[in-house]
Amino acid sequence: MSVFEHINGDGYEQVVFCSDDQSGLRAIIAIHSTALGPGLGGTRFYPYESEDQALVDVLRLSQGMTYKAAAAGLDVGGGKAVIIGDPKRVKNEELLRAYGRFVETLGGRYITAEDVGTSLEDMDTVRRETRWVTGCSHTYGGSGDPSPVTAYGVFQGMKACLLEAFGDSDLAGRSVALQGVGKVGYALCSHLAEAGAKVTIADVDVDNLGRAVSNFGVETASLDEIHKLDVDIFAPCALGGVVNDDSLSELRCRIIAGAANNQLAREEHGEKLRDLGILYAPDFVINAGGLINVEDELRGYDRGRAMKSVEGIYKQLQHVFAIASDRQISTAQAAKEYAQDRIRKISRIRLLRTTEYGTAGH
Ligand code: NAD
Repeated sequence: MSVFEHINGDGYEQVVFCSDDQSGLRAIIAIHSTALGPGLGGTRFYPYESEDQALVDVLRLSQGMTYKAAAAGLDVGGGKAVIIGDPKRVKNEELLRAYGRFVETLGGRYITAEDVGTSLEDMDTVRRETRWVTGCSHTYGGSGDPSPVTAYGVFQGMKACLLEAFGDSDLAGRSVALQGVGKVGYALCSHLAEAGAKVTIADVDVDNLGRAVSNFGVETASLDEIHKLDVDIFAPCALGGVVNDDSLSELRCRIIAGAANNQLAREEHGEKLRDLGILYAPDFVINAGGLINVEDELRGYDRGRAMKSVEGIYKQLQHVFAIASDRQISTAQAAKEYAQDRIRKISRIRLLRTTEYGTAGH
């Protein structure tokens, strides 16, 4: 498929192919929407099998960022970048700086951050070539690792889910099955343990598993059992696509609320969860804490302000649940409509403001 065939009809604004012979950089930057502000989203460094696969991924991810930012109430749009290659083999200072120079040429229409395959230190390197980067280390005025903040947002979101499902937001005594205790899952486990929840965890990484067990005294389950447990909340914090044709009939939870991106294998699985009476916290709403955190850097980072804003995830989910219940649609569909509605309303105001400034200046 040609690039235009890929992007036609979905409102993409700009796709930039970046190539640097000397460093071997091959990257694609996709700006889905700047209707609410500059496209903000991380740089994924991944050994894609083909350019087409990389293009499909960056387009899908940049569109997801538009919805995530809009639902979180931020004044940024959706963008994302991918660098093609195995980060363990080809990532180096020269390549990252070449990439930073491409980001700089976009003049702030795209602002980058870390993602799968890139780190805080990588963002510090990119920053040497461009101002348009967030998620740098504290030394550079950045906000540091976003994972604990994402976990805090998921924890707040879980409370909103409990209120909706049981009429009581208290986590004490509630059972939670936590899939994945990596950066986000571990921090979430800490909040849950402190709140008195009964947590069961599973992870492919035995070190991560052991660390959570010894620090929080939680139970463990096998990898293929964790999503089948009869619990109040199933929290996917590892992989996408956990709600799929096979797993649907095995779920015994009342709520799905976790950090993983793209939890539904297909959009219609949101409707299936509704039919099953399982309350689903749409992933891009509940896991927006990391994005809210890096967005705060654009105003000069203030941890307290960022955390306060992350607490808003509780209210945002309540809005989504209210739309779903009023319109008798899935929460996944309601979240999308909630985001689209905000883009429509706020971009109209921004457009009016630009026109007024334009008139005033002449
Ligand atoms: P991570 O790599 O630190 O942790 C993932 C954990 O899941 C690891 O411990 C890994 O061993 C485990 N895992 C992998 N496959 C598994 C399986 N089949 N079963 C059980 N465990 C498995 O990643 P993270 O930063 O904690 O992110 C977790 C998820 O949240 C990802 O989907 C990520 O895209 C999403 N997310 C993260 C952030 C953030 O701030 N880090 C923000 C938004 C969304």
